[in-house]
Amino acid sequence: MISRSFFLLITLLFVVATLHPYADMHTYENTDSVKTINVQVVYYLPKDAKPLPDWQDRINYHIKRAQTFHRREFQGQSKLTIQLTQQPFVSNRTKDEMPKDEVNNFFWFIINEVTESNTVQFAKNAFPILLVMSDHNFSPGYDDWSRVCSGEGCLFDAPHEQCKGHVRHDGDHRPGSRCGGARAVYWAEKHQGFGLVTADGWRVPIKGTDCVFYHEGIGHSIGLPHPEPNDDSVMGTAQYVDAIHQTRVNEEQKRKLGWEEVEINRDDLFSTFSVTHEPLTPLPDTPFTIQAKLPKRFSVQTIVLEYQADLWSEMESNLEPKMKRDEEWQTFEWEYPGLGAGKSLGYKIHVTLDDGTKETLWHYAKAGN
Ligand SMILES: [Zn+2]
Repeated sequence: MISRSFFLLITLLFVVATLHPYADMHTYENTDSVKTINVQVVYYLPKDAKPLPDWQDRINYHIKRAQTFHRREFQGQSKLTIQLTQQPFVSNRTKDEMPKDEVNNFFWFIINEVTESNTVQFAKNAFPILLVMSDHNFSPGYDDWSRVCSGEGCLFDAPHEQCKGHVRHDGDHRPGSRCGGARAVYWAEKHQGFGLVTADGWRVPIKGTDCVFYHEGIGHSIGLPHPEPNDDSVMGTAQYVDAIHQTRVNEEQKRKLGWEEVEINRDDLFSTFSVTHEPLTPLPDTPFTIQAKLPKRFSVQTIVLEYQADLWSEMESNLEPKMKRDEEWQTFEWEYPGLGAGKSLGYKIHVTLDDGTKETLWHYAKAGN
């Protein structure tokens, strides 16, 4: 009998362990389960704005990047489900009627308008997050294609040089302008997260816009603060460093969400595929090179460059790459003719491996003087 009940106990323990290998992960310093997160994403358009022709592609790109990152970082202990509403959410207000006094009022106006419309439904048994992708910035002076502020209608004082998009010391562009207004909040009493990514953080996808999407849309929305001391993790300065596959969720923050440590594989295609261009600030009338790089062990079936020289024009794809290999890496290079003075180029590279694995990375170049 002893051995039989012992066997039963072991069986029960085994069943419990299989059903429930980990205690549920939960919101930061709180108890809402984030074992499954359901993010409902809406594209928010002021009444007088024209929707981007390919807004769904742009938003779906960020959704996919965030999901792959979340899966890698939490290894199944938290599952991220995201749905995009298939029609733009058209505001009752024009661009000019949006709140201009204070950026938090701008945030709450948008969040309340979408919430009160009752058009967004969340999946059951999941932590709900409303994530609004705004077509508009808090300050209307900033143009996200040229990444400069004309000053016209800008809500900030001159010099408007301070409104321009973030550019690293090496000349490479990263998302973010003081005109933007992206932010998010975890509202513990409502057991819900609310996030806003403004136009400066996504309409022109560049290295790091995927970090902004995750930072606001998942990180702050489940209560994560900025790390203390600050670091280059996704809740820190990751958006100024590189695309999201290069960063991580800070280990201590993960533990505080109830994550149980397991090993993370950062050797997959998502984690190792990168794109860039050379030089980082191309001269207006000189050809420059767009590059994609991945480990040699991946067998590439196709690799395609798409680009657009204007936010409203269709993507083109008529350049062929040259391939180079060294011990470890394979590099694909496309030569692009001169951009022209003051002009910009948005580009994205799709790679498909022989085993069917796919990745896409999007970036941006702007001509210097
Ligand atoms: Zn933040």
